[in-house]
Amino acid sequence: MCGIVGYIGYQAAVPILFNGLRRLEYRGYDSAGFAVLNSHGLKIRKRPGKISQLKDLLNDTALTGTIGIGHTRWATHGEPNQVNAHPHTDCSGRLALVHNGIIENYSALRKDLIAKGHVFKSETDTETLCHLFEEYIKTGCSLEAAVRKGLGQVVGTYGLVVISADEPDCIIAARKGSPLVIGHGKNEYLIASDTAPLIAHTSDVTFLDDGEVAILHNGSVVVKSIDDRIVEKCVEVVDTDISQIEKGGYAHFMLKEIMEQPQTLMDTMRGRLLMEEGTARLGGIQKDIDSLLFARRLVLTACGTSWHAGLIGEYMFEELVGIPVEVEYASEFRYRDPILGSDSVVIAISQSGETADTLAAIREAKRKRSKVFGICNVVGSSIARETDAGVYLHAGPEIGVASTKAFTSQVLVLSIMTLLLGRVRTLSSIRGREIVQEIKRIPEKVSQVLENREQVKAIAEEYKDMRNFLYLGRGYNFPVALEGALKLKEISYIHAEGYPAAEMKHGPIALIDKAMPVVFIATQDSVYDKILSNIEEVKARQGRVIAIATEGDAEIQKLADNVIYVPKTIEMLNPLVTIIPLQLLAYYIAVFRKCDIDQPRNLAKSVTVE
Ligand code: GLU
Repeated sequence: MCGIVGYIGYQAAVPILFNGLRRLEYRGYDSAGFAVLNSHGLKIRKRPGKISQLKDLLNDTALTGTIGIGHTRWATHGEPNQVNAHPHTDCSGRLALVHNGIIENYSALRKDLIAKGHVFKSETDTETLCHLFEEYIKTGCSLEAAVRKGLGQVVGTYGLVVISADEPDCIIAARKGSPLVIGHGKNEYLIASDTAPLIAHTSDVTFLDDGEVAILHNGSVVVKSIDDRIVEKCVEVVDTDISQIEKGGYAHFMLKEIMEQPQTLMDTMRGRLLMEEGTARLGGIQKDIDSLLFARRLVLTACGTSWHAGLIGEYMFEELVGIPVEVEYASEFRYRDPILGSDSVVIAISQSGETADTLAAIREAKRKRSKVFGICNVVGSSIARETDAGVYLHAGPEIGVASTKAFTSQVLVLSIMTLLLGRVRTLSSIRGREIVQEIKRIPEKVSQVLENREQVKAIAEEYKDMRNFLYLGRGYNFPVALEGALKLKEISYIHAEGYPAAEMKHGPIALIDKAMPVVFIATQDSVYDKILSNIEEVKARQGRVIAIATEGDAEIQKLADNVIYVPKTIEMLNPLVTIIPLQLLAYYIAVFRKCDIDQPRNLAKSVTVE
């Protein structure tokens, strides 16, 4: 998920690694480190916090050397502290490794390695790889063979780079699911998790593909398949300008994060769906699952976008699990003396895991003897530490202030929890399998919506000067209306309101005229006919309608001024596809209005104050 840079050549490695990691800072991270090989062996330095914390190492004479690896970590397993920062080592301390991704079967591998006498220092999944490779090296394998053989036992995703004091003339790298690219210089090579750190040195690059292992020597690069067959690779020329790369080539973090969603949704579901049994596995709540299953009531508590995800969770849990649910603003919950007790379970949702109101709500719930679960993105955050159990989003760092990819991952986690609990309580295996299948198709469907972004951009241009917007939806799409309106408010400063569509006639209908565009989320689901009537009501009053509709729905063209189509999915998963055009609409309107998209006025990414 985060950043890797490796160097082998004739220049001092540390400055190259340091500047390379700087170029990867846009990805967000929580700790950073280097390992360098020189005549005294392997030297490792790593620290929590920003890369600038490593600046003094540029003058550290103990770190001279022309081979090294560096990493910026975004914690998925274990808190972001010094011990868990990369590079990691084996028991001998002669091997150093950096890794992006998640080793799904790390706990089984770790148990097995501990039984063989290995001593682990960190809580990370990554360290397992060091000891696994060490096992093969002990049998006489070269570093390269140890990596290839070890990876044969690994389930999960990795971009990894490893060096060893016993083979001080090479770097070994391997990729599956997490990118790596080699930069070809003159008598020197770099390897990195994207091209950003390379282009100050060279424009000749080779992208590794999944299942490939690269062996970098000081003058040659060989790429092999994991089963030891040579792979012929080509050298490509990248013509990127340094200024383009800070945000991975996107104009704003928000757009980058919107576009990342097919991948982040894959990362959220990875290793958690069980097709055969039509259910799910969530390691972080497995041992406490009974308290959820036998709860008299679930209370979901959150703020802002996470609160909208909670509302979708309420619809899912009540429909498919059959447990009564309430969704509470954390800021209200903490002060209003809620009636809880040991039979109520609280689920707190927060991207950062540091939201002050949500943390206070958790403490209040614990005081009242409720069990508290957390759903958050940042590993080792306060919410992760203070809850009894929980689920991480694994969506990678979210930097744009307006949350996008964390929202879809929250909704996905809630749907996976629904599946898991529903299968114990009410759902058949056939229904469970249908849900698993549909969840797996979501990333592809989200990609399809993203491909259509030029159409959304054109609509944004048409409506950019409006002063008010109304967003309406019913059922699962009602919280999507709230979230769509919030996105627009946050980054374009246009006044926007979300409502359940049927509520319109109880008040907001008074506002409808040509100057009040109405965004309807009108997919073909159980409330489709009802929402068509609501659209008619708006049209009868000269309102302008933008409809988010199901692919193939020709009927709606007759009613709406603009239609944005999304692929069909099952009702509970609709929000995952219908929110995408609304994120894009808010983004492009803000672009046309020249707003500061990644730092909207008055807003903070993680609201750590009351
Ligand atoms: N899963 C690894 C860890 O938690 C790697 C995280 C990353 O991609 O930065 O250390």
